[in-house]
Amino acid sequence: MNALIVDDDDFMRVLTSTLLKQLGLPTPWQAADGATALEIIAAHDIEFVVCDLEMPGMDGIALLRHLAQIENPPSVLIFSAKDRRILATALQLAAAHNLDVLGALAKPPTPESLEPMVNALHERRKVRRAPGDGPAPDRLTPDAIVDGLALGHMVMAFQPQVAVGDGRVVGVEALARWDDPKRGLLGPWAFIGVAERAGLIGELTHRALELSVAQAAEWLAQGHDFTVSVNVTIDDLSDVAFADLVLRLLAQQELAPKRLVLEVTESKIMREVAAPLEVLSRLRLNGVGLALDDYGTGASSMEQLARIPFTELKVDRHFVSHALEDPDARAMLESAFLLADRLELTSLAEGVETQQEWDLVASLGCDRVQGYFVAPPLAAARFEAWLPTWQARHP
Ligand code: C2E
Ligand code: CA
Ligand code: CA
Repeated sequence: MNALIVDDDDFMRVLTSTLLKQLGLPTPWQAADGATALEIIAAHDIEFVVCDLEMPGMDGIALLRHLAQIENPPSVLIFSAKDRRILATALQLAAAHNLDVLGALAKPPTPESLEPMVNALHERRKVRRAPGDGPAPDRLTPDAIVDGLALGHMVMAFQPQVAVGDGRVVGVEALARWDDPKRGLLGPWAFIGVAERAGLIGELTHRALELSVAQAAEWLAQGHDFTVSVNVTIDDLSDVAFADLVLRLLAQQELAPKRLVLEVTESKIMREVAAPLEVLSRLRLNGVGLALDDYGTGASSMEQLARIPFTELKVDRHFVSHALEDPDARAMLESAFLLADRLELTSLAEGVETQQEWDLVASLGCDRVQGYFVAPPLAAARFEAWLPTWQARHP
């Protein structure tokens, strides 16, 4: 198991290295900064990274963001920062990118504090790597994605979005699933990242839009007046023809543009601006709704909000799930709802799982809720079965 310790403090690196060796790991690699760490990771099969957050040059937060972009990223153990907000940001970022984080470790590390982490590491890698030791054995290959798209293996699940005031279903988010003939239903983790890296996300988004718009048109014909939200990535938006594609799909199904919402992730909007801005503005001018997804996990949130004509703010589920015990998360929630209100955006809290969380976001001024407390993402037929029972409880 190849480990890497990233810390600008020589003493911490040597100490951690010694302790990890005592716990049975081979001599770990060491890096004094983020850039060197990335070089080592690129050249060796690193499975485990112990990472300091406060470093000169590329700091630990930036390093985590880079790690999230590599195929089969290592598990991560974070040295706790002096400022708890930095640590919270790091954990949040890691969670948003589905990085496997073992935990946060106080400095200096001790055998007692490291041992449970290393045990957890062995457990995780066993699960993730079994049975062979190949790269990411559980994800689809690009070829399988191309074939599966042609065979109709990608399907959409729909998760309701309801108004906090009266519980009315006002929208659904369409979430991609892979109906694999051998392995059953797989979540986005199995194919979205692969598709993005293999340049296949355009085809995937096209299919997702097609399926979602057709479903929304069908529901509208049945008298269900709600929006459908579809996730798009920056790569989709950097092609200026994307706006025409979306408008054409809507026209084909005779669905009014205002019934479609595109969800864009904050951290991904930041990198490139010109083309996405043109695409988003054109779609918005034509009436398509725009939601800023995972709000709070990126960096220049305010800037994005001022520049792009969003209609909806989706606050990341991290803040909802921590708000009951963490005053910082709660403050973040409240200010997000307030900001949405000022900018005349619809606010939506993601990941509401309990009555308590519902009550909390309601009291903080949230407009809409999406989460397991209402319903998980459901196949279209199951959604249709769920809807009347929910409506009966919220006349
Ligand atoms: P997201 O857009 O933030 O989607 C919300 C995720 O939170 C979904 O996971 C949903 O199942 C989950 N979720 C909803 N309510 C709750 C809750 O109460 N508690 C918890 N713990 N989780 C909840 P899912 O379906 O696995 O999707 C993961 C991510 O995959 C999405 O995050 C989105 O970024 C991406 N994704 C899904 N479908 C598509 C797609 O068609 N295109 C693109 N580009 N990305 C997609
Ligand atoms: Ca989303
Ligand atoms: Ca989200």
